[in-house]
Amino acid sequence: MTITDAPARTGTALRIRGLRRTFGSAVALDGLDLDVAPGELLALLGPSGCGKTTALRVLAGFERPDSGQVLLDGEDIVPVPANRRDTGMVFQSYSLFPHLTAAENVAFGMRMRKVAAAERRTRAAELLQLVGLPDHGGRYPHQLSGGQQQRVALARALALRPRLLLLDEPLSALDAQVRVNLREEIRRLQLELGITTVFVTHDQEEALSMADRVAVMRGGRLEQCATPAELYDRPATAFVASFIGTMNRIPGRLAPDGQAEVLGVTLPVDGPAAGATAFLLRPEALDVTADGPDTVIGSSFHGASTRLRVRLADGTEVKADLPSHAAGAFGAGAAVTVRPQRRPVLAAGEEA
Ligand code: ATP
Repeated sequence: MTITDAPARTGTALRIRGLRRTFGSAVALDGLDLDVAPGELLALLGPSGCGKTTALRVLAGFERPDSGQVLLDGEDIVPVPANRRDTGMVFQSYSLFPHLTAAENVAFGMRMRKVAAAERRTRAAELLQLVGLPDHGGRYPHQLSGGQQQRVALARALALRPRLLLLDEPLSALDAQVRVNLREEIRRLQLELGITTVFVTHDQEEALSMADRVAVMRGGRLEQCATPAELYDRPATAFVASFIGTMNRIPGRLAPDGQAEVLGVTLPVDGPAAGATAFLLRPEALDVTADGPDTVIGSSFHGASTRLRVRLADGTEVKADLPSHAAGAFGAGAAVTVRPQRRPVLAAGEEA
């Protein structure tokens, strides 16, 4: 039997209900509710201090909530100690045992659970193969690169066939290229094993590119949980709109018919807009044409697209994305006109 056709310990449903955790007067989790479907990869994303790490530590059993439930397939695991929770965890910093080889690291949990030596060896080899390191079992952590160490840590986390995989910024210490490769690798493995996974990251590109759904947290609560495309295209709140991707806040007014008037264009409005005096528009929702009252103040090249920074006639600074072949015409100082494309916009809240 191989790891991949092992009896399914996968497909576990996770439900988080009313989690609250305080540290003195600091409220790290303030009634967090979240559902993770069997086999889903959910990313927890949010500004620093929003409670992501605390949430993950509560799931792992390293932190006890003041109140609330963590239900794994309906069973509340809050009273269950960390080492009996059936969760695998990968941390940000390489947390391998330095005096054990890669294979021994992978087999460590199995040894604790008194799995027979021959079976431990077979499974450790299988897992190292699974994470792309079939020939590295005999190496010590200091003989492995950062990316390889995280692969070993991943194999170790999977060794006991956990019901829940918890990843705490596992890629943040790695350099850009390794990071992107390992990102794809983790996702491939997670899909292959069908293991329910919660991933904490600071990096929204990472969250949006890897996750089935992303939970955006704010102040210890859930702000919105949705697929990456939904979060980007239909943010539920002005906070999510501004937090995910780049967003322009452009002054405008609400016409009596409820539509927005922004830079001389009338646009439909999504969501509540009463009293709005500014609207949110993505850089790719702005067109730039030659001549006019606005001024290009800079640009950055991103391959297929180029981002122009433009100062509008009223002094507002905006970012507009253009195909690079079109943006070439607009150098710093060029007089241009910025106009929104006719797409629905959100009203900017106080917080945006
Ligand atoms: P970051 O992205 O910066 O890692 P985070 O979203 O993971 O932040 P947490 O680490 O969960 O946030 O912290 C949430 C809040 O709880 C913060 O205000 C933090 O200062 C506080 N906090 C977390 N752990 C402790 C602790 N052990 N003692 C006191 N306060 C804590």
